[in-house]
Amino acid sequence: MSVEVHPIAAPWGRFALYSFFVDAPEPAIVDTGVAASAAGVPEALERLGRRIEDVRWILLTHGHIDHVGGAHALWEATGRRAKVVVSATDAHFLRSRRAHVDEALALRGPFVDAAALEAAKSAEALEAISGEMEPSLVVEDGDVLDLGGVSARVVSLPGHTRGAVAYVVDGHVFVGDAAQGYGAASGFPGYEDPDAYRVSLERIAALEPDHLYLGHPYRRADGTPFPVALDAAGAREALAASLEREAEVRAAVADSVATRSDSPYSPFESAAAELGYTGDPTLEPSPFFTTMHGYATRTRQGATHD
Ligand SMILES: [Zn+2]
Repeated sequence: MSVEVHPIAAPWGRFALYSFFVDAPEPAIVDTGVAASAAGVPEALERLGRRIEDVRWILLTHGHIDHVGGAHALWEATGRRAKVVVSATDAHFLRSRRAHVDEALALRGPFVDAAALEAAKSAEALEAISGEMEPSLVVEDGDVLDLGGVSARVVSLPGHTRGAVAYVVDGHVFVGDAAQGYGAASGFPGYEDPDAYRVSLERIAALEPDHLYLGHPYRRADGTPFPVALDAAGAREALAASLEREAEVRAAVADSVATRSDSPYSPFESAAAELGYTGDPTLEPSPFFTTMHGYATRTRQGATHD
């Protein structure tokens, strides 16, 4: 049985957030945007001749605020009938606003004004998350959900977050933020674990998606955005760009010397310079520091193991 997929866009600051309506016998929404984006979903479905009350699944690709923030509001809009699904590893982001603050402090706190970051993330979590909630179902790699005769298979894609997953529905592959090209509006790809990110990109490629859906309009090397809904050729291009940029960042980090300075990129200013990255690394969510923290942690772990 083939299903149709409809992207639903919502703005959030300088970012464009995307949810995807999967028109299965038991309809699903993949990712929810923030609290404010959820408000626009019922109308978007009405334009498709569908009703929010009929949605039976809310599938979350990972725990970031701009993907789970609207989950509670959408669940309410379905009369609490939809099952809210997230990976076991990222479930704490659905359960707790504070988890988002703690994550930011762990990954970026060492490089910025930590007190200011804590205050800003706390305020953001309050506004952008429509409610803390227990997931209906936590999933892991290989789980299969039944959308009324159409299956959704869970594929683990750690790297961007530890618990990121894809949902594979009849050749449609929803990867959230697991493939980022040259980054979205921040101009830099964000991932907690560089090695896992790379393995996950290769895993997506091995799925040979007929259709690949990205969580944001990630960019090519020339700065132009990929569409969020890609065909097979577009998917290959986006995955190749993602692997290419990861390799470039990896090489720049290997060349760099971490030095504390007044640069906003400190202590990674030489890597930023080599990569031609001129974005503001303190603007949240900062993929630059998250990613650099990932490489720095990797180096430390490698040193410990050797
Ligand atoms: Zn994300």
